[in-house]
Amino acid sequence: MIVEKFLTAFVSETPFSSGSGVAMLTGVLAVLIGVLGFRYLVKKYFGKDASRTPIFSEKNLSKPFAGVETDEKIRNAVLKQGFSIEKVPSDLDAIFIGSGIGSLSAACFLAKAGKKVLVLEQHDRAGGCCHTFTEKGFEFDTGIHYVGNEGPGQPDRILMDQLTGGRLHWDKLDDVYDVVKLGTGKDQKTFEIKSGSRQIWENALIEKFPDEADAIRKFTAAYKPIHTSFFYVGMVKFLPYWLMKVVISLGIIDWVTDYNKWNNICVRDFINGLTTNKDLRLVLQYLFGDYGTLPDKASIPILSLIHGHYWKNGAFYPRGGASEIPFHVIQEIQKADGAVLVRAKVQSILLDAAEKKAIGVRVEKGSKTYDIHAPKIISGAGFRNTFEKLLPKPVSMRLNRVQEVKTKVTPSASAFQAFFGFNGSQEELKLPKHNTWFYSTNEDPAITMKSYLNMTREEALSADPPFVFIAFPSTKDSTYVERHPNKICCTVVSVSNYDWFQEWSSSQATKRGDEYESVKNTMGQRLLDMVLDLFPQLQV
Ligand SMILES: Cc1cc2nc3c(=O)[nH]c(=O)nc-3n(C[C@H](O)[C@H](O)[C@H](O)COP(=O)(O)OP(=O)(O)OC[C@H]3O[C@@H](n4cnc5c(N)ncnc54)[C@H](O)[C@@H]3O)c2cc1C
Repeated sequence: MIVEKFLTAFVSETPFSSGSGVAMLTGVLAVLIGVLGFRYLVKKYFGKDASRTPIFSEKNLSKPFAGVETDEKIRNAVLKQGFSIEKVPSDLDAIFIGSGIGSLSAACFLAKAGKKVLVLEQHDRAGGCCHTFTEKGFEFDTGIHYVGNEGPGQPDRILMDQLTGGRLHWDKLDDVYDVVKLGTGKDQKTFEIKSGSRQIWENALIEKFPDEADAIRKFTAAYKPIHTSFFYVGMVKFLPYWLMKVVISLGIIDWVTDYNKWNNICVRDFINGLTTNKDLRLVLQYLFGDYGTLPDKASIPILSLIHGHYWKNGAFYPRGGASEIPFHVIQEIQKADGAVLVRAKVQSILLDAAEKKAIGVRVEKGSKTYDIHAPKIISGAGFRNTFEKLLPKPVSMRLNRVQEVKTKVTPSASAFQAFFGFNGSQEELKLPKHNTWFYSTNEDPAITMKSYLNMTREEALSADPPFVFIAFPSTKDSTYVERHPNKICCTVVSVSNYDWFQEWSSSQATKRGDEYESVKNTMGQRLLDMVLDLFPQLQV
């Protein structure tokens, strides 16, 4: 029923709240939010403190590309600065736990606003999912394969320029940025996902599904109202905290934006409400791997917004590889006397005597621990790590909101990643810049993934996963060939069940023993066979 209502609503693009009283109130609120938001921004950037907070500066707009720093010493001084208590800046304003892009970008903006920040990372290099590693001369990325909205002048690009001092550049993938391969053998079908505009994207699909033009247009038509509803939520966040709470708890937010309504529709219901064509259903939701939640659990906005953000300008890859992102952001933090230190596992968050306020962190280093204090402690280590591991249990249990979120938000699907290196040149092997999404069947991915994930480890060792994502970062990054001649790198991602590997969760990487190696290699070999099937030119 809800799905039907939504379909009608977005096709006609009629707002949901149509009563005149509600419409008037909505208008008044929108104006109020707009005025408050505007006042806040004016005060922040042009008020008397503005000169001390040059967070956004023309100086940081994109600069000419100056090459990728290849001197390991210089790179390590930024990305692998090991923790020691002497390196911790004095008079800290904020401590961040974890050095993923979440922590780094927030830390960088605080640093630009004149705050002294410390970012602590447990791994031996900074960047979280943006880190890269090199093995036998091949450089691999771990969690960035493409990003949208990074074309010159696009808002996300301006934001990234500010974070990276304008030094990070992006290489555009081809207009066809994703290809879906459906089925196996001679019956395999190929669907190209094409950027340029919403219409180009639609037309590429309509060409493949001429009888489904209506369903495809309804799918893309949902993007605009979803995008607008998210914009208003962003505006509400500019309100003073107390007012924001009132707006949310009294349900006033639902008069202003349809955010909650859209969020209550899951991907599967929405798509199944559009079409009965199983191939099309699969193709519309193929990129669920981008957000890691199965279609019966994810809400339609996340799928729609990710699709939509590629339409106009396509997809981009950080020139020089994903670690260029932390490499440049950290330098901005260092310029403001902040520090990003690795091999610094935060053991716990320290609280005041009343256990009401976070006042510091305890860092593990070998057999020693160090307590570091700051007025603000910000965790970018993930919801569960923060509330289940870093805060004392009784404190987490007391936080009703945390308990509520915990019951609603379960961990997303785990991923198994394999990294393959091939000797050879791009001219010879002609590998694509686009990502390849392989699905063995057009059945509902929520069902096929679950039946794979519900297998025991032994069963999974003799089964191909129903889905794999394949990318060749060496073809996307225009500096790769120069930095790593005759090396082709391939990253493959598939779904996995955490339980299959849990027994090794507390053991040290590279020292997990023969059984672990055997499980890893058997699964890896299956993925390699799938890659060779799809890209036979890689077979020797
Ligand atoms: C396989 C894969 C592919 C992806 N592909 C894309 C893509 O193509 N495009 C895209 O835009 N996004 C992609 N993503 C998503 C994107 O990489 C992540 O959303 C984003 O990088 C997450 O950033 P974060 O800061 O939230 O967390 P993370 O990057 O996970 O950083 C968290 C950091 O906290 C550290 N940490 C945890 N606990 C502690 C502790 N106790 N003490 C100290 N440090 C701690 C961790 O070691 C980690 O470095 C992908 C993700 C994955 C996994």
